[in-house]
This record gives sequence, C-alpha cells and structure tokens, in this order.
Amino acid sequence: MSPTVFGRRRAALASAALLLAGALAGCSGSSGSSGGPEKPPRPASSKPAPASPSAAAGPDAATYRRWGLDKPLAAPPAPPATKLTDGAKGAQGGGPPVIRRIPTKDKVVFVTIDDGAEKDPEFVKMTKELKLPFTMFLTGDIARAGRGYDYFEQLSAPADGVRNGIANHTVSHPNLRTLPADAQRREICGQQDALEKRFGIRPALFRPPYGNYNDQTLAAAGGCGVRAVVLWEATMQINDMRYAEGDKLRPGDIILAHFRGPQELKGTTMTQMVANMLRSIERQGYTVARLEDYL
Ligand SMILES: [Zn+2]
Repeated sequence: MSPTVFGRRRAALASAALLLAGALAGCSGSSGSSGGPEKPPRPASSKPAPASPSAAAGPDAATYRRWGLDKPLAAPPAPPATKLTDGAKGAQGGGPPVIRRIPTKDKVVFVTIDDGAEKDPEFVKMTKELKLPFTMFLTGDIARAGRGYDYFEQLSAPADGVRNGIANHTVSHPNLRTLPADAQRREICGQQDALEKRFGIRPALFRPPYGNYNDQTLAAAGGCGVRAVVLWEATMQINDMRYAEGDKLRPGDIILAHFRGPQELKGTTMTQMVANMLRSIERQGYTVARLEDYL
C-alpha cells in the first residue's frame, strides 16, 4: 500500500482555528482544519486477525462503575498483523505519513492525550485499574513542570506488561508553520532527544501543536526518527467530543484529549473528563484500542 495514501501533505488552514473559537483553548485549535470533505483512507490491506481468546481478563464491572462507567468497554480485537508504518519509512524522501484515522473496520477508537499540564494522581489509578490504552503527546516545557516526567513515567509503566506510549509534541508548543526549518528541527528533534534520554525510547509518533505543519515540519520529523505524524478526528471537551466530520465516532478515529484539571475544565477533574469520554465511546458501540498496535 502506498504511504502517500496516508500522507496527505495538506497544510491545515490557519483560519480554521477561528471556526473553533468557542472551543477550549489549547492545542485543539484546529481540530476542524480539514479544508474540505475528508477522503476516507483506504482500509489496510491486511485483515486483522480474529480476536484471540483473552489471556488477561479485563477489568470487572465493579471497577468500571467505580470510575463512573455503568457499562464496561468491550475487549479490543486482536491488532492487525502489519502496522500502518511498516515499510513506510523514508518513502520518496517525503517524510513520515500524516495520520488522522486508522483504516480499520473494527469498532475501535484511539485515545491520545496532549501537552502534560495536569498531573492528577487519580488518573494514574484510573488508567491502571481500567487498563486503558492511550498515547501521551508530551510538550517538554509543559510536561516537565511540577512533578515533571516522573508522573508520565508512572502513566507509561506497564499494566499487564504493555506500556502506554510516549510521543513527541515539541519542546515549547509553538505554531510550527510560523517557524523556519532550523527552528522547527530544534522543536521536534530537541524533544525527540529529551524523551529518549528520559524514557529510553525514541518516540515514533509526533503531533504538531494545533495540528499545524508544513513540508519543513515533515522533513524535520522524518530526519529525527519520527515514523508517523498523528493528527485527530475527534476532540474531547469537558462532557463530550467534537467531531471533525459529522456528529459521531467512526471506526479508527483518533481522539484528542488533554491533560487538564478543574481549572481548565470548569471544575471537572481529569478522571471525570476521561470517564465522560469513555462513556460516550461505549455508548456509541466502540472500544479503545492501542494506537501503537496499529501504527
Ligand atoms: Zn498541544
């Protein structure tokens, strides 16, 4: 399959941020940035293997209830045999593919959480007890404040032997499209280096702040080891999600949320916000899968 299918280099429209002026401030600014109807990516060529008999039992109903969910999320299906980025590296020298949604027919969505401001210890408990898969896109200057990277180390630490992914969201959260190539490289590669030094793994995934990027962004990211640039289709607010298209989730949607607490969420805590998100996912008939299993 051609990586260019997923590598739409269309730069986000700056004006799109204005469309979401009512949205919460933060890096969700251009979640509706598609300049026209989104062309759905082609399904992955390899069909996911059938779900294996679950080795590790998921959390029980009482655990879900404790965290504010009336119904458990379904166990995710077995991940596909090949990942979207397999063989995509270095294609035509054009940098990594840009991904907004994972091509799949499975009723799965992917949770990504950005920046790293709020460091709520309850959220660590919640994710461990619910065995929630998610990917953290960390901005150096934001994530390092307060309890710093130790907090994210706790969040990343294996539950059932699987780590939650740590990914790159620049050093200082600039609008990369306003920066020259060398400054973009410092923002992206500097955070690659910092995360590798702190966590021992060079991130494969990168998300540009506000979803804003250009060809220089992709070249810089590819040059320092990024395998995919991850955007999003749905943005979690306080009570529910906003969708780039339509009014509901679709298979493979990548959901953007943020590490935020009561100050930014009008009194709602991080765990309440995540519970609201998971309830909506469950109600729509989806479950949460691990992005790194597909990408
Ligand atoms: Zn951000």
